[in-house]
Amino acid sequence: MDRLNNSSDKFEIKFACGHAELRVTKRDSFNKIAIQRAARMLCGACLADYDAKRKRLIEDSIRRANEASKSVKLTGSRKQIEWAERIRDRWLFDLQRDIPQTPSVENAIYIASGNEQAFAVQQAITSVLEVRLKAIEEVLDHGQAAWWIDWRYQLNERINKITNNAMGSELRLLSIGQMP
Ligand SMILES: [Zn+2]
Repeated sequence: MDRLNNSSDKFEIKFACGHAELRVTKRDSFNKIAIQRAARMLCGACLADYDAKRKRLIEDSIRRANEASKSVKLTGSRKQIEWAERIRDRWLFDLQRDIPQTPSVENAIYIASGNEQAFAVQQAITSVLEVRLKAIEEVLDHGQAAWWIDWRYQLNERINKITNNAMGSELRLLSIGQMP
């Protein structure tokens, strides 16, 4: 079987960021796909940098949220306050701070057509995360117990909607994808 211009059993794939990796040679068609795919993606180390940055943003946000839930004293009747505090604690405990995995995000990473877009997609994902975390923190500004009780079933929906809208505009700006 023909190999991709490689006499050894390894071949090189080059990522959009310029970093290269050696892969074990497989069938010609597999090698070609790996080369094409790598050309529009960032390498593992560059992706890890973005992941680390997003992890820091999340950690900072958790810290601010903990402070906010201690400092924002809820108002209302005693019964309402107790109920609302349970809702708030439970919500903070279960909350998904990461951007939920969506096909459009995966798609954007895959469709990126090289260097600039591969970086731009990662920056877009980071910006969307910032919007999501801000939306979460804004929820915590609410001090009326009644507000928490009224919104208790829609808190995540509210955050996800803001996240999706932000993702939609980021992807439209990149012109490489649309929300489903
Ligand atoms: Zn790289």
